[in-house]
Amino acid sequence: MKCVIAMMQHETNTFSPLSTPLAAFGSGTGQESPPSGEQAISIYAATDFAFAGMLDVARSRGMDCVVPVAAYAEPSGKVDDAAFDYICDQICDAVKQGCDAVLLDLHGAMVTQSHDDGEGELLRRIREVAAEVPIAVALDFHTNMTASMVDNCNVIDGYRTYPHIDMYDTGKRAAKTLFHCLDHDIETKMRWRALPMMTHMIKQTPLRQPMKDIMDLAIEAVDNTDILNASIFGGFPLADIPHVSLSVLTVEPSRNYLGEGLIKQLCAMAWMRRHDFIFKPEPMVESINKARLLDSFPVVIADHGDNSGAGGSTDDLSVLDEMLKQELTSIIAGPIWDPLAVGQMIACGEGNEITLRIGGNTSVPSIGQVGHGISCTGKVKKITDGRFVITGPMQTGLEVCLGRSVVFDIGAAQIVVCEERWEPFDPGCFTHAGLDPTGARYILIKSRQHFRAGFEPIASHIVLAAGPGVCSSDYAQFDYQHLLKPIFPLNLEMVLQDQ
Ligand SMILES: [Zn+2]
Repeated sequence: MKCVIAMMQHETNTFSPLSTPLAAFGSGTGQESPPSGEQAISIYAATDFAFAGMLDVARSRGMDCVVPVAAYAEPSGKVDDAAFDYICDQICDAVKQGCDAVLLDLHGAMVTQSHDDGEGELLRRIREVAAEVPIAVALDFHTNMTASMVDNCNVIDGYRTYPHIDMYDTGKRAAKTLFHCLDHDIETKMRWRALPMMTHMIKQTPLRQPMKDIMDLAIEAVDNTDILNASIFGGFPLADIPHVSLSVLTVEPSRNYLGEGLIKQLCAMAWMRRHDFIFKPEPMVESINKARLLDSFPVVIADHGDNSGAGGSTDDLSVLDEMLKQELTSIIAGPIWDPLAVGQMIACGEGNEITLRIGGNTSVPSIGQVGHGISCTGKVKKITDGRFVITGPMQTGLEVCLGRSVVFDIGAAQIVVCEERWEPFDPGCFTHAGLDPTGARYILIKSRQHFRAGFEPIASHIVLAAGPGVCSSDYAQFDYQHLLKPIFPLNLEMVLQDQ
């Protein structure tokens, strides 16, 4: 028995000015292009990725596993057509060789230069070359669901957590359902519904209300009924595409109809709570002032407007600038993306002093934002290769590569500056460079929710700071042209037609 297992992961922020060429799909792990075969297996097999869960399930059945590509890129703007076609071709060519099942670790919010729905297009192409092959898909919680995704595979399951700490389990669940159905000759039926809602990502987490009860009910249904899988997708609103939504999906044997009732119930709950999914950020200056008045440490300050995990450049230093203006000290900050500054500091050498400008290299024309850097003098405290293995609960076991990295000491702050963008959800980005986050008063990181995986346990307080950037929670900044309207909350007074 042969199984094709592949990964294609990209969350596309269509407002982001950052391009997404093929090389981006290998960068976080230090590769020049997306890995495949044994190399992909050596990078991802022992990590908390859905890919690893799928691989373990297939291997436990003694299947021959073929890995045509494992492509993961940090969120950014639309994916280049050439990159997308390359990844699709790798997967379709492998499927064409013949296989008994296809297991895919996908994101669900990929937009390419030519396709609003990257995952739906990939699945459509696979079906074109192998109409009957059974396909199971694991998706990110931030999926914007489409008919093309649902119609072109047999099983879908989504992460149940945000921060995403159950990726491996999700891969396992999706693969197990597929093989269970193949073993028992069960035909699956997927039902789904998308609500015209743009939820704010800070409010989406199933750890808390309004999402907690909704996710709990879906999990309970899977545990206690014949429904095989039930997923809630919070959706990814930073995309100017028609199908932004919160959606619900069930998988069950085709003779059953339990999914219909569950979907109705879950959608009713989400719609009733729609106002609770709105987040109103306070002015960033006020947030920093609040942080200044706290008296137990460390205080984690999460700048959620410029988060690479949602397509930000992580080189806007408005929040750090404000912290310095308000005379906060004992700060560690980063990682800040500035390859140019890294080069200058490495040329200057460890232990030496340099005056330079850090950050502010990226402007965001879609929201009229001009990059904000800071000019400062400091010491090149340490130079590293930016490599560390994640030990926290999210993407556990993955070796991250930030590229060449530098700890820049400007007195009040120690700033980690690096060559690659990375959302800090594991303290390894600081500890690998000799910095101890628990000893700092303030930890400034650029993240919205995922930082909680690695930093909440060590934080005395968490302060959210709405720095400027392409990940803003203020949707009024974005010029949406292609959304299917009406959509909540852009059109606040809406009645939902019962379908
Ligand atoms: Zn996500």
